[in-house]
Amino acid sequence: MRGRSKVIGQRSKQADGGPEANGQRRERAKGRPAAGGRRAQQVRVRLGSPRATEAGALDGRGALDYRAIARAVETWFRANARELPWRDAYTPWHVWIAEVMAQQTRMEVVVGRFPEFVARFPTIESMARAAESDVVAAWSGLGYYRRARLLYRGAREVIDRFDGELPADADALRSISGIGRYSAGSIASVAFNLRAAIVDGNVARVVARLDAIEAPWKSGALERRAWELAEALVREAKSPRHFNQGLMELGASVCTPRNPACGDCPLAVYCRAKQADRAGDYPRRAAKVEVTEMTIPLFVIADEQGRILFRRGEGSLMNGMLHLPHGSAAIYADPLRIAEPGPVVGTVKHSITNRRITFEIHTPVASSMGRLADAPGEWHWLAPRELASHAHPSYVRKALELLFGKV
Ligand code: SF4
Repeated sequence: MRGRSKVIGQRSKQADGGPEANGQRRERAKGRPAAGGRRAQQVRVRLGSPRATEAGALDGRGALDYRAIARAVETWFRANARELPWRDAYTPWHVWIAEVMAQQTRMEVVVGRFPEFVARFPTIESMARAAESDVVAAWSGLGYYRRARLLYRGAREVIDRFDGELPADADALRSISGIGRYSAGSIASVAFNLRAAIVDGNVARVVARLDAIEAPWKSGALERRAWELAEALVREAKSPRHFNQGLMELGASVCTPRNPACGDCPLAVYCRAKQADRAGDYPRRAAKVEVTEMTIPLFVIADEQGRILFRRGEGSLMNGMLHLPHGSAAIYADPLRIAEPGPVVGTVKHSITNRRITFEIHTPVASSMGRLADAPGEWHWLAPRELASHAHPSYVRKALELLFGKV
C-alpha cells in the first residue's frame, strides 16, 4: 500500500437514498411520520430515559426506530469490540484480507493466520508481484482456494486501475475481482467509514429477528428485506465503521443461531421477535436441502523413498490443488495402473456443499509408475512433510495424518 487510499466518492449510493428512503417518502405522503425522522426522535427517544426509549422502540404502526437502533448497536460495539489485529489502524489492505479470510473460516482461525499472511504480503503491491502459486500456498488450510486466487487477481487490478490504492467508494470496490456487494460494503464502511450497508449471515439473522421477517432463511425475499434494513440503519449511524462491525459482532456473540442471549442484547427493546417472545422462531426455517452421501476410494501410493503420489486437480472448485488419486481404480488405468487396490486401511470424512463424502483409504502399489512422467505437470511425488507448501484440500491432510501422523 503506497500512501493513503484514494477517495473517489465521499458518499455511498446508499447514503444518497435507496429503496428505504423512497419508502420513507411514501410514508410521509400518507401523513405518517417516517421511522427515525427528526421529529419522531424528539418525541420518542430521550437519552437516559429507559421508559422513553422503550416506548419508542416500536411506534404505533410497528415501524422500527432506525436511529435509536443504530445508536444502540454503536454504543454496544464500543463497549464490547473484540481486539482484532486489523482494528488497530483499519489499514484498507488489512481489512480486505481479513474480510476475505473471515468469509471462509472461523474468526479464531482468521486471527491465528492473519499476522503470518500479512507478514508475507504486507502491501497490495507485494501480493500483485508475487506468483499466484505463492499466494495459494500461503492460503493453505484456509480452504476454498478460489478466494485466494480472486484476492491475487484483485490486488493486480488495484495496481493497474487504482494506482495501487484501494478506492474509498463502494461501487468502485465492487468493480474489483472477488469483491461483491457484501465485501464492498464491508471494506467501504470498516476501512473508510463510509455509509455502505452489509448483510452477511450474522446480520441477516439479527435483522430477521429484529423485524420478525417471515420470509424463509436464505430466500430472496429475506435477502432483499435484510439489505433494505441494513441500508436504512447504516444511514442513521454516527460511525458506519462501528455500526456495521457491531451488527456483525452482535450476531456472532449475542444473537446467535441457537439460544440468542436476548437478556444481554442492546436491541431487546426494539426487537419484534423478542417482544413477541418468539426469538427462537426466527429466521424462519428454509426448506431442507437434500444431502448426498458418497463413499469414494482414495489411493495413498508411496514409492521406495516414502514419497507420496499426488495429482493436480482441475475444475472451478479445486483448480490447481494437489489431490490424492481417488475414484474408481479403473479410471487410473492409464497412465497409473492400479491392479489391486488392496484393503481399506482407514476412512476420512469430507463435505463439499451438500455432499458428505466418506473416503476409504487404500495403499496400493501402482504397477506402471514410470509412465507418469508422460504427464509431469499433472502428477507429483512429494514427501508428506512437503505438503504444507502446496495448496491442497483438507481431506488430503486428514488422510496423510491418519497414516503418517502430523504432516
Ligand atoms: S433481542 Fe434477542 S432475538 Fe432480538 S436481536 Fe437481540 S438477541 Fe437477537
